Amino acid sequence: MTLSRELFEADLTFHCPKCETAAVRKGSWIKSAKVFICQACNTQTRLTYGLKLAIFDAHLHPHSPDSLPAFTGQSRR
Ligand SMILES: [Zn+2]
Repeated sequence: MTLSRELFEADLTFHCPKCETAAVRKGSWIKSAKVFICQACNTQTRLTYGLKLAIFDAHLHPHSPDSLPAFTGQSRR
């Protein structure tokens, strides 16, 4: 498994493990960054390869079915 090139130009959202504040970074930033410093609580998070994979993976395969257009509204009565 590798970091998907198609997300390098995309804005990826991830969350500070300490305070869960959302942060948005380009995929290319995440790929090359070594630490992420949360702007809300100043916690330094080491961006391990596994963590990067998880962030990329979350964007390639959103795991909440509710967010998929096919599942929102439009129930026929
Ligand atoms: Zn934080």
